[in-house]
Amino acid sequence: MKKLELHWQILIALIFAVLYGSLFPEAVQYVSWLGDIFLRALKMIIVPLILASIISGVTGIGNAENLGKLGIKTITYYIATSLLAIFVGLLLVNLIQPGVGADLGLSKQVEDLSAAKDSFGDTLIQIIPVNIFESFLKGDMLSIIFFSILFGFFITQTGETYRTPLTNFFDALFEVMMKITMFIIKFAPIGIFGIVARTISQQSDLIHLIQSMGLYMIAVLLGLFIHIAFTLPMLLKFIGRVNPRKHFHAVATPLITAFSTSSSNATLPLTIDAVKNNSGVSTKITSFTLPLGATINMDGTALYECIAAMFIAQAYGVELTFVQQMIVVITALLASIGAAGIPMAGLVTITIILSAVGLPLEGVGLILSVDRILDMCRTTVNVFSDTCGAVIIAKTEGETLKIE
Ligand code: ASP
Repeated sequence: MKKLELHWQILIALIFAVLYGSLFPEAVQYVSWLGDIFLRALKMIIVPLILASIISGVTGIGNAENLGKLGIKTITYYIATSLLAIFVGLLLVNLIQPGVGADLGLSKQVEDLSAAKDSFGDTLIQIIPVNIFESFLKGDMLSIIFFSILFGFFITQTGETYRTPLTNFFDALFEVMMKITMFIIKFAPIGIFGIVARTISQQSDLIHLIQSMGLYMIAVLLGLFIHIAFTLPMLLKFIGRVNPRKHFHAVATPLITAFSTSSSNATLPLTIDAVKNNSGVSTKITSFTLPLGATINMDGTALYECIAAMFIAQAYGVELTFVQQMIVVITALLASIGAAGIPMAGLVTITIILSAVGLPLEGVGLILSVDRILDMCRTTVNVFSDTCGAVIIAKTEGETLKIE
């Protein structure tokens, strides 16, 4: 008998999880531990995976010139797609005007709003770790990435005696981490069942929320849909010259995992596996671009942040000028770059936009109640954009892929 493909297994698990979570919300603790174990296992491999992946990728790229070229392409793709997403969001929020007449009484208290108050300059400075071991402990992705790129690059600058064993060592480490990944992925259907059952059981007043926040949710979901179903596939087709449908199929498992976990970081091991083994992108490119993408490339978050900030302005009756709206665009880009690839990170970094245009930070409380569901959707778009970036960059580097 032919084995059911993994993403179908996960989808079936997801449906059962929705049923279980809504029918037996009080019995959810009997299954939620399955999700905890799965998430812990994914988190367990992220730091060594990123380290090994980037070092092995950078040593594979070889010299400074190629690394620079690839770096510029990657960053250009990340910024361009995030801006495209933001402009779609801006257009929709101006057309739909979801915040006009919104019920301010729904606002909830949010703690820790100062978390994102560091200026963008500070954030940039903090990319350089003072103690790399502390960064490993804290899971400080940007610092780990920065250190790994430097480390990998300077391996290529050493003599043969050191270069070969070090390169082999990190290639081997990466191989082992990927083997562990494949092992953990086998448990994805069970893990995702546990995660989604709990999420569903916590959404008790979903119907009421949809009634009151419906327009806002429609604006965000429509924007995300346009980005994932039109904008990115167009880029795949016309710049990448690959078949978007085949690519979609190739990365279905990480997409459903992103949807279920709301975390680009936790999904990263599955993303690397799918883009490498199913889409056929080389290790050199996947291992450099995907960890970076999971940390800084967040198209879905950027679009969401733009709509959310404009929604808050509308709800408070503040008319934003053209210049202010452009400030929203730029700060939404920065806020999405600054958001970590973990659940609800985007909700907190909205404060960057709100402070830039002088809106009350408490506005975040207004959108808190529906954040979870939107987070699931925007994380899916974030991860899809990372995979498209790897594919498009691989094609511009002359690679032949399995999805053409
Ligand atoms: N959860 C998102 C991610 O991991 C970030 C966000 O909160 O927007 O990609």
